[in-house]
Amino acid sequence: MKTIRLRDGKDRSLLRRHPWVFEGSIARGSADSGETVRVEAHDGRFLAWAAYSLQSNIRVRAWSFDEAERIDASFFERRLKRAIALRERLAAGGLLASDGVRLVHGEADGLPGLVVDRYGEVLSAQFLSAGVERWREVIAQQLCAITACTRLYERSDANVRDLEGLPQRSGWLRGADEQGGSTEVVITEHGRRLGLDVALGHKTGYYLDQRDNRQRFAELVRQLGCQTVLNCYSYTGGFSVAALAGGAATVTSVDSSGPALEQARRNIGLNGQNLAACSFADADVNQYLRAALQEGRRFDAIVLDPPKFAPSAAHADRASRAYKDINRLALKLLSPGGLLLTFSCSGGINADLFHKIVAGAGLDAEVDGYLLQRLEAAPDHPTTICFPEGEYLKGLAIIRQ
Ligand code: SAH
Repeated sequence: MKTIRLRDGKDRSLLRRHPWVFEGSIARGSADSGETVRVEAHDGRFLAWAAYSLQSNIRVRAWSFDEAERIDASFFERRLKRAIALRERLAAGGLLASDGVRLVHGEADGLPGLVVDRYGEVLSAQFLSAGVERWREVIAQQLCAITACTRLYERSDANVRDLEGLPQRSGWLRGADEQGGSTEVVITEHGRRLGLDVALGHKTGYYLDQRDNRQRFAELVRQLGCQTVLNCYSYTGGFSVAALAGGAATVTSVDSSGPALEQARRNIGLNGQNLAACSFADADVNQYLRAALQEGRRFDAIVLDPPKFAPSAAHADRASRAYKDINRLALKLLSPGGLLLTFSCSGGINADLFHKIVAGAGLDAEVDGYLLQRLEAAPDHPTTICFPEGEYLKGLAIIRQ
C-alpha cells in the first residue's frame, strides 16, 4: 500500500471529512492513476483511504475515513447499496415522483467522480475520476446486480476526464444487444412523459435535478394565471411541457442545440399537448432576449436555466457578469406581476452571491420583484453536511413588481 504524506497543517480538511486533497497539500508520495493510497498527516497519523489522481489538481479523493475499512469490491457494494437504498426510501415516501432517478451523486454518496442515473430500466453512468475509472468493472457489475437492470450505458465523455488524464469514452457497458441496442428511453416525471437519448443527450441524457422545479413551475403558471411563457435554455423542453400542463397559452423554447429542440417538440407531442401553441428558437439566449426586447415583446413567465457559466470559483467574476446580463434582460421582458424562475448550476457561485447578482440585474433593469421561493436540486441529488461544495444548483422564483 502506497502512502501519501501531507504537509504540516494540511490535515484539517480530511479531519473534517471533506474528501479532497489538493496538490499543494502533499509533502511526499505518489501512486498510479486511481490506485488506493493511505493518506497520513505530517506525523504519520492515519487520515483516510483514498484514490490517487496523477494529473488532477485534486490529487487525492477519499474513499473512507475508517482505518479498519478495506477498499475492495465489497466496499463498493456497500456504498452503492447505501446510495440506492436512499433513493428507494425517497421514492417509497413519494419524494421522487419519477422513474428517472439519480442513483449515485458522486461525493455525496461517498463515491467521488461517479454519477449514475436510472431512466426506467436503463442505467446511464459517468466515471469522472481516476479512482472510479479503476473500479469501473466492479461498479458496473454491482450496479446491475443491485438494481436488476441489464442495460448500462457509459457516458464518460465529459471534459473533466481530460483533467484526470483519462480518455473520453461512451457506449454500452452492459446489455448492448438488448432491445436492438436502442438508446432512447421515455421516463414519466410528475405524470408527464419525457423522451431522452442516453447516447445523444447531454451528460447522462437528462437534467433530473430540475424535476421538482419543473413541477413547481407548472403549479405557479396555473396559480398565477401566466399565459405567455418563455423557456430559455430549454434543452428538451421539460419546463415547456410543465408550462403547458399549467395552462399556458403559448410557450417559446429557446436553445442553441437543434437536436434538443427536436426532442422538445416530440416531448410536447408525447403528452398530447398543443404544438400549435409552441414555438422553438434555435438561438443564443442572450441575443434572443435582446431582440425580443427591441421588438417590445412581453412574457408572463420566463425560465432562465443556463449551463454552468462558472466551472470553478476562479471563473466567478466573468460568470457573474453573464448571469447578471441575462437576468437584467429577462426582468425587463416580464410583464408586471410576471414570474421569473432563474437558476445557476455553477458550484463556484453560492446562493448568496447568486441573489446579489440577480439584485444587481434588478437595479440595472430598474425593476424590483418579490422573492417567492428559493429553489434547489431534487432530493436524489443530495448535499452532505461535510461537503457543502457539493451544493451546486440554486434558483429563485420571483414575481416582478
Ligand atoms: N432547463 C433544461 C436544462 C437546461 S441545460 C431542462 O429542464 O431540462 C442548458 C441548456 O442550455 C442546454 O440545452 C444547452 O444546449 C443550452 N445552451 C447553452 N448555451 C446556450 C446559449 N448561449 N444559448 C442558448 N442555449 C444555450
